[in-house]
Parts: sequence; structure tokens; C-alpha cells
Amino acid sequence: MEKLTRIAFQKTTSFCYGCYKKAPTGVCSICHSDDLMRLLEGVGVEYGTDWVIEHLIDENLDSIDTDEIFESMIDDCYSETVKVGFMELSTVDVMKSQDPIYWDIAKNEYIDGLVDNEELLTFDNGSTYFWRHDVKNYIELNL
Ligand SMILES: [Zn+2]
Repeated sequence: MEKLTRIAFQKTTSFCYGCYKKAPTGVCSICHSDDLMRLLEGVGVEYGTDWVIEHLIDENLDSIDTDEIFESMIDDCYSETVKVGFMELSTVDVMKSQDPIYWDIAKNEYIDGLVDNEELLTFDNGSTYFWRHDVKNYIELNL
């Protein structure tokens, strides 16, 4: 987070909203205020860097599909197909259709586990997730 904040500072300029003017030195040259917002060219101007980080991550990294990674984990742990009677069926499809509620609970627990292990990161309280290694690569390329 500290490194992402540094990148967010690099990619933005201090901005005095009162004078509506850039203040790259950190102090407004007109009103001498140091209570400045961050301007991200072409995107917006706002206090703080959290919104900048969120924007940079969204722009540059692919968020992960939690359904997809849970399904591929199930495929890896169990066989991809299962025999029911004389039918060879997709294990994932059978599990999902037999007990969709249990499936969702297990999926959410799996995702929470990845977040606890810091393999997945979220910047918006769990609406979207990113692989930690993708975020790390982005930091390395931009610092
Ligand atoms: Zn000013």
C-alpha cells in the first residue's frame, strides 16, 4: 500500500481546488494553502490517494473472476468429470446444480481464504479482486 501510494503521488499533481490551479510545489502559489487535492490528468481531482490507487489498479490490471478460480480449484482437486449412473458429467456442474447455496458458501470461504493469505487483494472491500503477484509486477514496473 505504501508503494502504491508513492506511485499515486508520482502520477498525480498537487491541486488547489479553491484557486482551481495546479500547485506542483505542494503550496498554492496564489493563496499559499497547502490543503491540496491530487489531480490525475484526464480522470479527476480529489483529496487523498486511495481513489488514484483504485483507478490505476482498475486501468492496468485485470480483476479476477472468482467463479472461474473456484471452479478450476475444484477441477484440480477432484476429477473434472464424475460418473452418475451411466453418465459422465462435469463435477462442477453437478455440484452447482445439486446444492447452489452450499456451492456459493464454499466459494466465498475459498476466496476469503485467499484474501487472508494475501494471495488476493481487494481495494474496494471485496467488489473486485486482483492477484497479489499482478499488483507486485505493476509496482515494480512503475516505481
Ligand atoms: Zn490556492
